[in-house]
Amino acid sequence: MKRVERFLTEGPCPDCHGTRLNARARASVLNGKTLPQICEMTLSALQPWVQHLPQTMPQDMQTMAKALCEQFALTSRRLLELGLGYLAIDRRGSTLSTGERQRVQLARAVRDMTTGVLYVLDEPSIGLHPANVDGLLHVVRDLVDEGNSVVLVDHDTQVLREADSLIEMGPEAGANGGRVLAQGSASVLEQDPDSKIGRFLSGEYEVRVRPQVEAAHVFDDGAFALQTAPLHTVHALDVRFPKERLVAVTGVSGSGKTTMVLESLVPALQAEIERAALPEHVKHLEAGGIDTVHMIDATPIGANVRSTVATYCGVMDVLRKLFAKTDDAKRLKLGAGDFSYNTGSLRCPTCDGTGTIVLDVQFLPDVQIVCPDCRGSRYGKQADAIRWHAHKGNASCTLPELMAMSVDDAMKTMHSLPSVRNRLKTLSDLGLGYLTVGEATPALSGGEAQRLKLASQMGRSQKNALFVFDEPTIGLHPLDVRTLIGVFQQLIDAQASVIVIEHDLDLIANADYVIDMGPGGGEEGGRIVATGTPRQIAGDKHSLTGTYLAQTLAHTQAEKERRNVK
Ligand SMILES: [Zn+2]
Ligand SMILES: [Zn+2]
Repeated sequence: MKRVERFLTEGPCPDCHGTRLNARARASVLNGKTLPQICEMTLSALQPWVQHLPQTMPQDMQTMAKALCEQFALTSRRLLELGLGYLAIDRRGSTLSTGERQRVQLARAVRDMTTGVLYVLDEPSIGLHPANVDGLLHVVRDLVDEGNSVVLVDHDTQVLREADSLIEMGPEAGANGGRVLAQGSASVLEQDPDSKIGRFLSGEYEVRVRPQVEAAHVFDDGAFALQTAPLHTVHALDVRFPKERLVAVTGVSGSGKTTMVLESLVPALQAEIERAALPEHVKHLEAGGIDTVHMIDATPIGANVRSTVATYCGVMDVLRKLFAKTDDAKRLKLGAGDFSYNTGSLRCPTCDGTGTIVLDVQFLPDVQIVCPDCRGSRYGKQADAIRWHAHKGNASCTLPELMAMSVDDAMKTMHSLPSVRNRLKTLSDLGLGYLTVGEATPALSGGEAQRLKLASQMGRSQKNALFVFDEPTIGLHPLDVRTLIGVFQQLIDAQASVIVIEHDLDLIANADYVIDMGPGGGEEGGRIVATGTPRQIAGDKHSLTGTYLAQTLAHTQAEKERRNVK
């Protein structure tokens, strides 16, 4: 079949044109629409149409029509609450994203009125606008009320506050985690000194962690601008982005954020930089001097285990030369090449310098374990004989010892060497000081990979460079969100322009400028609803994001002072 597949193509059925209905079913008309036409509509367009339907029926059919339409309203309300209104009725289940499918299943679970079922939801709030998180919480509450149990794994404080009982794991990731830190209701965790999430639940923390630019000065350092023709469900846009600022693009799913930033602005700027033709739907672009565009995503770094934190940040080459210059290495006649864990003579022979070996377990998938000989350091026993000593003080280490150290510890040990110290400090400044120097980069989490990718960009001028992040806070603990905001600030201090597509209210509250799209998703979206500083958006009654942002901003020091003055 595999070989035949190459010659097969898939297309809509020529008879029904993909409607799945025969000619008779296609011919019936209900209030001016055929069934295929109805199925093409989005859920949110269909709801008012169905509501209106009973009135158009002959008198004797109205009772039945009303009952059917109420049934529809009940089912669709759930899906709309969960932010799925932009889906067309005939959308194939297999084309839904994981999050969309999870929410459709949830809506059905509530409709089925199950009892005694345990539902486990893994980060259901991912990619959801705060308004849809509220919808999600309604559904979860209904499941519980019907006698089911729900276990959620999540970071979103809006979700956590609703839980009857919380179990907090930590205190950190990886080797420093894995313990239950605190347990109880949200109010118990708020009081618990061991809890790391407690103060985020109580709102007793300063939301703003970076300097704020006043509305009148947002565009002081220049701008870039875009005018587009309609594309997909997005209307014609005319939008200006301030330069050297943190700009948040917000709005519910399907409101057009991705189309505006990733399908219009980024390709248009790239075309301008390469002196190529603008994308067809982009009518006008004012690059404002932007000459570099970096898309920073959370995909893993490097496909194989030979890519490590040390190689990625460029410190490995320095270390190899450093160890080759030691007295031990000279005595043993070893050069820099011998210290390569990929090809050098000192690499561990058991794992060939990968730090791991693969066990072939019969009838089961292969199991990867840490190499028992080098314990993951990637070097053989001979490497222990070569020791580096600091010129001043008594710091010393071998290369295998260094590979097993955290970035922060290695930075302390090699403090006297600027070439090593500065590279490691960059990682520490990115909030990655806890990573092990020899850690394989493909194993890093999405958030870690995202920040590590910025390592080569830090500490130099970023004038005229634009950095674009698509939902960078996904899966991040509120503490990590603050670290990320600190990283954005470092970029902006280096004169970079930063655009984030984001739902996280703490991050949006820290932006200099917000572009809110909507008001809904799909057909009801695709417009710019509001623009301005977070404070201005919070005061804009047309902006759904603003409603939620106002609650978040109420926690800032500036806002508390404003209230005290009044
Ligand atoms: Zn057909
Ligand atoms: Zn080994």
